[in-house]
Amino acid sequence: MNLVTVKTFDNYFSANITLTKLHAAGIECYLKDEYTVTLDPILSNAIGGIKLVVKLEDEIVVRKLLEAYEQDYLKAATCPKCGNNNFTYLTKPGATNYITALLTWIFSSYAVAPYYVYHCENCGYECERLPEKNIEELES
Ligand SMILES: [Zn+2]
Repeated sequence: MNLVTVKTFDNYFSANITLTKLHAAGIECYLKDEYTVTLDPILSNAIGGIKLVVKLEDEIVVRKLLEAYEQDYLKAATCPKCGNNNFTYLTKPGATNYITALLTWIFSSYAVAPYYVYHCENCGYECERLPEKNIEELES
């Protein structure tokens, strides 16, 4: 059986949420290196994070499901500045990433994670974690 890694995670929680969703959708999959990363998070970058592994024949379906999950996740967040639901997840260009690139180049075997942010496409607001849904929206 041919297996393929479709996504990597730097934490146990998002990895298991995605795994549970895929299991619920009837996809056979498992997490590789989950315990190593959970016990020693510093190793996450060195071993490439927690890997979501699926059968090769399921890869296309799984990638479409993952994309749909990601879109649902981004749509669920409302920008606290402008009220739109138009977040994207992107790498932040900046000093941190130049340092990261330099360190990765110097210590070629010791990769350092780049800096990611959620970016509001409407007003430019950026945050490290998606804003929670408003209480009023959850009640309606
Ligand atoms: Zn905004």
